[in-house]
Amino acid sequence: MFETTIAGSLPKPGWLAETKKLWPTWRAEGEELTAAKRDATLLWLKEQEDAGIDIVSDGEQSRQHFVHGFLEYVEGIDFEHKVKMGIRNNRYDAMVPTVTGPLRLKGRVHQIEARLARAHTKKKLKITLPGPMTIVDTIADAYYGDKVKMAMTFADLLNQEARALERDGVDTIQFDEPAFNVYMDDVKRWGIDALHRAIKGLKCTTVVHICYGYGIKANLDWKQTLGGEWRQYEEIFPALAKSRIKQVSLECANSRVPLELLKLLKGKDVLVGVIDVATDKIETPAQVAATIGKALKYVPKRRLFPCTNCGMAPMDREIALAKLKALAAGAAIARKRFG
Ligand code: ZN
Repeated sequence: MFETTIAGSLPKPGWLAETKKLWPTWRAEGEELTAAKRDATLLWLKEQEDAGIDIVSDGEQSRQHFVHGFLEYVEGIDFEHKVKMGIRNNRYDAMVPTVTGPLRLKGRVHQIEARLARAHTKKKLKITLPGPMTIVDTIADAYYGDKVKMAMTFADLLNQEARALERDGVDTIQFDEPAFNVYMDDVKRWGIDALHRAIKGLKCTTVVHICYGYGIKANLDWKQTLGGEWRQYEEIFPALAKSRIKQVSLECANSRVPLELLKLLKGKDVLVGVIDVATDKIETPAQVAATIGKALKYVPKRRLFPCTNCGMAPMDREIALAKLKALAAGAAIARKRFG
C-alpha cells in the first residue's frame, strides 16, 4: 500500500550539465557525455532506492528537456533555426524547433538509460515521455498545417518508442501532459484520443501526468492568476476517468486544487503529489502523511500512490534528495496510520 514514486525528472549533477536550469547546457559531448549520462542515471537510481522510493525512474538524466529530449530523435525537425514561440497559451516564451517535413523516429530514444536502469534495479521502473498535446504546444509547425494531425503523428512515434521500452522491461510508462491543464476543451476533443494512440497495444502500466508546471517564475506567476480555487482538473477528470490510461499523476501539496475533485477519477490509480517542487522548503514526513490522509477521503487506499507534484529537474540536488526521503518516510507513517 502507498507505493511511492516520483513525477520523473531529478536534478542533474554539476559535472553532467548546468545546474538549476530547465534547459541546461551539457558539460561534455560525444562519448564523454554518454558516459556522464550513464553515471548520473546510476547515481540517482541508488539515491532513490536508498531514500526508500518504490517505483524508481532514470531521473531523466539523459535528456536536456522533457520535450526536446524526445524531439532530438525525430526526423523532420529543424533544430538549427529555433524560433521564439509563446507556449502553454502564451504563459511564457521558449525557443523551439520547427517541423519541416514528415515525422519519423531516427531510432531508439531512451533505450540506453532504460536498459541500464533495468539491469541495475529490482524495483519497478518508470520511464516518462512527453504527451502528444504538450509536444505540439512546444514546437513550431511549417509542414503539417494542422495541430491535431501533427499530434496524432507524434502519438504514433511515442507508441513506437513506448512498445520498445516495454520490451526493455520497463514497468510503467508515463506521458507528461502539462498542456492538459491549459487547453481543457482540446483534451476532450482530441487530447485523450492522442494518448490512446500513444498507449495502443501496451500491457505495462500507463500514466498521464498533469500538473501546474515546474517551479519556475512563469508558472508561479501564472498560478497567482488562477484564483482561490484551481478547478482545471474538474473539466478534464471525468473524461480521463473514462479513458484507458491506468493512472493519473497530479499536483496536490501546497496547491489550490480542491481535493474533492479527486473523486472524479473513480476507477483510476491516483499518483497524489505530496511533495511541492516549487519551494526549497523540505516537507516533514508528518506533513506528507497528513496530505496522504486528506487525499484518502477521495481516493481508495489501494489506488493511492504518494508522488511528487512535478519533476525536480531545476531544483538543488541536496534539496531534491531530502524531499525524496521525506516522501518515503511520510508514506511509511501513512501505512501505519491508515493501513
Ligand atoms: Zn509536471
